[in-house]
Amino acid sequence: MKNLKLFLLPLFNLTIIFGGTTLQSPSQFLGYELGDKFTFHHDAVDYFEHVSTVSKHIELITYGETYEGRPLIVSVITHPNNKESVESIRANHLITSGLIEGEKQENPLSIVWLSYSVHGNEASSMEAALKTLHTFADTSNIEQMRWLEKVILIIDPCINPDGRDRYANFYRMMGNLIPDVDSKTREHQESWVSGRTNHYYHDLNRDWSWQTQKETQYRLKLYKEWMPHVHVDYHEQSYNDPYYFAPAVEPYHELITPWQREFQNIIGNNNAKYFDERQLLYFRNEEFDLLYPAYGDTYPIYNGAIGMTYEKAGGGSGGVAVKTSATDTLTLKERLEHHYLTGLATVEATYQNSERVIQEFQKYFKNANTEQPKQFKTYIISNDNNDNKIKDFLNLLDLNGIKYGRPVKPTQMMNKVFDYQSGERKNIKVLDEDILISTQQDMSVLTQVLFEPQTTVSDTLTYDITAWSLPYIYGLKAFATEKELALQEYDTPIVRSPLGLLNSGYYGAIVQWGSVNALTFLAELLKNKVVVRVAEKSFTHDGNIYEPGALFISPRGNEHLREKLHKIVHNAAIKHKPAIATISTGKSSKGIDLGSSNFRVIKAPRIAVLSGDGVSSGNFGEIWHYFEQQIEYPVSVFNSSDFKSITFKDIDVLILPDGSYGFLKTEFPPSAQVKKETSASMLIKKSPPPALLKWVNEGGRLIVIGSAMEKFVDQKGYGLVKYESEAAKKEAKKNDEKQKLGERDKKYGDRKRTKLIDNTYGSIVKIELDNTHPLAFGYDEHYFGLKLEKKLYPLLPKGWNVGIMKDSESLVAGFMGHRIKKKINNNLIFGVHEAKKGRIIYMADNPLFRSFWYNSKVLFGNAVFIVGG
Ligand SMILES: [Zn+2]
Repeated sequence: MKNLKLFLLPLFNLTIIFGGTTLQSPSQFLGYELGDKFTFHHDAVDYFEHVSTVSKHIELITYGETYEGRPLIVSVITHPNNKESVESIRANHLITSGLIEGEKQENPLSIVWLSYSVHGNEASSMEAALKTLHTFADTSNIEQMRWLEKVILIIDPCINPDGRDRYANFYRMMGNLIPDVDSKTREHQESWVSGRTNHYYHDLNRDWSWQTQKETQYRLKLYKEWMPHVHVDYHEQSYNDPYYFAPAVEPYHELITPWQREFQNIIGNNNAKYFDERQLLYFRNEEFDLLYPAYGDTYPIYNGAIGMTYEKAGGGSGGVAVKTSATDTLTLKERLEHHYLTGLATVEATYQNSERVIQEFQKYFKNANTEQPKQFKTYIISNDNNDNKIKDFLNLLDLNGIKYGRPVKPTQMMNKVFDYQSGERKNIKVLDEDILISTQQDMSVLTQVLFEPQTTVSDTLTYDITAWSLPYIYGLKAFATEKELALQEYDTPIVRSPLGLLNSGYYGAIVQWGSVNALTFLAELLKNKVVVRVAEKSFTHDGNIYEPGALFISPRGNEHLREKLHKIVHNAAIKHKPAIATISTGKSSKGIDLGSSNFRVIKAPRIAVLSGDGVSSGNFGEIWHYFEQQIEYPVSVFNSSDFKSITFKDIDVLILPDGSYGFLKTEFPPSAQVKKETSASMLIKKSPPPALLKWVNEGGRLIVIGSAMEKFVDQKGYGLVKYESEAAKKEAKKNDEKQKLGERDKKYGDRKRTKLIDNTYGSIVKIELDNTHPLAFGYDEHYFGLKLEKKLYPLLPKGWNVGIMKDSESLVAGFMGHRIKKKINNNLIFGVHEAKKGRIIYMADNPLFRSFWYNSKVLFGNAVFIVGG
C-alpha cells in the first residue's frame, strides 16, 4: 500500500516516505486542510507515526488493537531538552505519587492525558488531536515548549477507531461535494448503526470500570501504568449546544475530593478565558454529572485524577457543515478548533498549577491508605461462592488495581456486619478462606464506589443507572463491616484439575451447573456435536450434590463421535475448567439415576438474532458480543427488513432484542378504511408475522427482551397481557386519571425532576426466582438484577412466572421514581409461555445490559440452551 500511496500523495509528502526529518503539519501530510473532510483513522495513525519519527521528544506507543484490527495508539510528549527516557519519567511519577516503591527524583512532572473520539461519530475531536499533536511537536512554539517543562502530555487520538471509521466512511460516502447544511438531508442522518459505538455496538464511555470491551481492556492497562493527574474525554453534543466544559453539575459522588472539585473550576476558568476572548458561547455546571463510575471523567476521578468531559456542538448530524437552530452554520473546522483550544488551555492550567497538582495527587493516595472511609472498612467475600465466579470477580478487581487478601485468622464478627444478600445486619464468622477487601488501599475510593451497597449521591437528578454494587453484579455472598480486619497475602487456591479424570471406558462425566465456565464448556461441546443431557432434578453422586441443571455427558447418544468424544470433553474441560467429575456408575446415592427420563437431551441449537432498524443496536451488540466473545457459540444475524422472509424452520432459537420494532407497523395496510376501524394504538400493536407463531407452535424458541415485549402484549397465542383482569384495567385507568388531575399544579421549572417520578434508569431489584424451572437452573431462590424499563407487566396468566418482582421492597439499591415504585405488585421479570410445542421466553429487563452484569450470563445461557423439551 505504501508504494501506491507514493503516487497518490502530493509531492511534498515524499520527504517522509524517503525518511525525511522535517516535521509536517497535518494539512501538509494529509493533503487537505483539517476540517475539509473527516480523516480516516489509518491516516491519523500515519501522521502520529510521522510526528514521532521526526520529533525526538515524542514517543508513539501502540497499546492494542480493536476488534476490526485497527491499532490503538498514544503519543507521549516530553520537553525537547528532556534527557530521560519516557519509561523513567513514568516510574518517577508513580514513585512520587506513592504508588510504587523507589527513589524519588527531583522535579516531578504532571501528566495530562487527552482522549479523543470515544464516540466515533463525535468526530471533530480526532481532527483536533492531529492539530494539538502538531503544536506540541513544533519546537518553535515557545509557549507550549515552556509548558512541557512541567507537563508530560499524552494524546490518544482515538479511543474508538472502529466507530470513528464507521462514521468517516458514512460521511465520505453520503456527503455532498458541496456540503448541504440542512440537518434533515442524508449526509446528516446516519443509518443503523451510528459511529458512536465500537464494533460490538458498545458505548466505550460506559465501560471503563467493567472493561468488557477489548479497547477498554487495552487502554486501562496503559492508563493504570501511567495514572495521569488530569484526564479529558472529548465528546460532542447536539449541534445546537455550543460548548460544555468543567465544572460538572451535581450529582457528584460524595467521595469526590474538594481539590477535584476546585481544580475542575481552575481549568474551566482557563478554558473560559480563551472562549471569552473570542466571544465564543459555552456553558458549565449543567447536564453532565459525576457519578456512574464507568465514564471517561468519573473513572479517572475515582483513580485520583481530575477527570473531565468536554463537549462541543456537533455529533453524528453535524457533518462537515450544518445549520443550527440559531441559523448559524457550524463547521467541522470550528468544532475542531474549539477542542484544540480547550486542549491547550488544559495543558496551560496544569502547567500553572503543576506543583499543587502533584502535591494533591500524592495526598490523595496517602489519604486513601490512612483516612477513615465513608462507611465500611472491610468487604468480605465468602468462600462459599462458586470458585469460578470468585476467580472472575477477582480478575475484575485486578483489572481495576483493587487489592485483596485473606484474613490473618478466623474471626467471629460480633458487630453485625451488612449482608448484601438479605440487606440485613447479622453476626458472621470470617473464615480462613474468605476474601477480604480493605478500603485502606491506593484504590480506596474506587473500591468504595464499586462496593457500596447504596450509591451516595448529592442529588438524584441523573439519567444513568444509579446502582452497580459488585456483590450484586456477581451474585456473591458478601458482607461489609465498619471494622478493620487484618489481611494477609492472597494465596491462589489450587484448582482441582480435571486431567486424568477422563480416562476412557468411563461411564460418563457430570458437570455442576451455575457458572460461566460450565456454560462456555457446554457451548464448546455443543459446537462439537456432543449430545449433552441436563438434569431436571437434583441427585447425589459420589458424595457430590448436583442441583437441577447439572450436565451429564454419556457415551450413549454420542456413538457418532466414537473415540473422539473423550478428546473433545477432555480438551473442553481443560480450556473452560468447569466443576467436572467422571463417574463409573449410573447409580446415584440419592435422587435420580443417570438413566432417568429426568435427564433431558440438549441438542446444539441454531441461534438467530434480529438486527437493524427498529432493533436496539446496543442490545443487539450485547447479544452478538455474548455469543462471539463470551461463550464462543455461532449466532446467525438477520436484518429486521427481512423479518418476514426468514425461513423460521431452519432456526431453533430466535432472539428479539430490545427495540421499538417500528417495522412491524408497516405490515398493517394504512388504508383509510382500516384507520377508521382501528384505533391508533392498535395500529402500533400490529401482530408479528403469522409465520412466527406457527414456528413457535411447532417447537421454536423465541426470546423477547425489554421493550420488544410491547409488540406481543395481548396478541393471541403469545400469552402476554397488559392487565391481568378487567378489574385491574379499570383500576389502572382510574389511577391514571387521578394522577393527571393531581399533576395540574406541577411547575415548569421542575419538569426534569417530575419526569423522574415515573422512571427507573437502572436500579438494583431483588427478583424472586422459581429455580425449579430450567430458566433459573443454577441460581438461588432470588437474583439481583437491573431494573431498566419503567414498564411493569402482570404475571403471565398461563405461563411460568420464573422471575417476579414482588413489591416496593424489591428495590435494593439505586434510584427509582416513587410512583413507579408504588406500582410494583407481583410483576413479571422473567417468564416462559408454553405455546404448543414451543416456548416464548420473556425478559422484561435486558439482562445483558452493557455486558457487565456478570450474574445474568448463565440465565441467558439457560434461555438459549436449557429451556425446552
Ligand atoms: Zn460523547
